[in-house]
Amino acid sequence: MPTRYLIRFDDITPGMAWSKFKPFETVSDELSLPYLIGVVPDCQDPSLSVEQERADFWPWLREKSLKGWTIAQHGYTHVYATKERGLLGIGRKSEFAGLSYQEQFDRLSAGKDILVREGVWHGVFMAPSHSFDAHTLKALKALDFSALTDGYGFYAYDLDGLVALPQLLAQPLGLGFGVETICLHVNTMSDAAIAHRIEFLKAHHSSIIGFGEAISVEAPFDRVERVTRFMSHIALRSYRLLRG
Ligand SMILES: [Zn+2]
Repeated sequence: MPTRYLIRFDDITPGMAWSKFKPFETVSDELSLPYLIGVVPDCQDPSLSVEQERADFWPWLREKSLKGWTIAQHGYTHVYATKERGLLGIGRKSEFAGLSYQEQFDRLSAGKDILVREGVWHGVFMAPSHSFDAHTLKALKALDFSALTDGYGFYAYDLDGLVALPQLLAQPLGLGFGVETICLHVNTMSDAAIAHRIEFLKAHHSSIIGFGEAISVEAPFDRVERVTRFMSHIALRSYRLLRG
C-alpha cells in the first residue's frame, strides 16, 4: 500500500490570503480532493488578516463541508497566551497549554459555540502552534470532540480517549506506508512554493484522502505503529534541536 496523504491547511480566517488559496481550491474542485482545514472561530490575531475579509466566509465553509472537506477548530482566537511547548514539545507559544482547565474549557467551548451556530463544527481540534496539554485533552473530551490533528507517527492512535492523527512536517516524505499529513500555511507561501505543491497534488491525487478515511487507515501490525511513532518522535526532536 503506498503512502496516503492528508492535506491540511492551517489559519483559515475571513482575512486569510484568498488569492494564494485559490489555486488549491481550484485543484480540489477539479480532482475532488477533500482537504482538512483549520478554522479560527473568532480570529483576533492580526497576523492572520492579510487580505480583504471574505463576506461569505461561513456560507463558503458550509459549502466545503458539504463537499466532504473536514473542518477542524483551530483554537478560539489564535492569540497566544503562554510560552508553553505543550505535550508534543513543539514551538514556544500556545493559546492553551499552561492555562487552567477551566480557562481552556471556556475558550474551547466559546469557539465551539460559534462553529456550531454556523453549522460547521466537526468535533476535530487543531491546536495553534501544535501546543496543547493534558487539560486541553480533558476539556476537548468534555466538549465531545472526537479527534485532533497532531501527534507523532504515521497512523492514527488513541490519545487520552481522542483519536490523534499525526502531523509531522510540511514536506511529504513518501515512505511507502501510513498516512502523511502535509501541513500548509498559505498566508506565507511563495508563488513558487504554491506551484510546487499544486504539481504534487496533481501527481498524487489518487493517494490523497480525507480526514475520516485517514483516521481509519490501520498499521499492518500494532508494533509497527508504535515503532514508527517512537522513531518519528525521536527524529523530529533531533531535527528541531538541530535547527535550534
Ligand atoms: Zn495557526
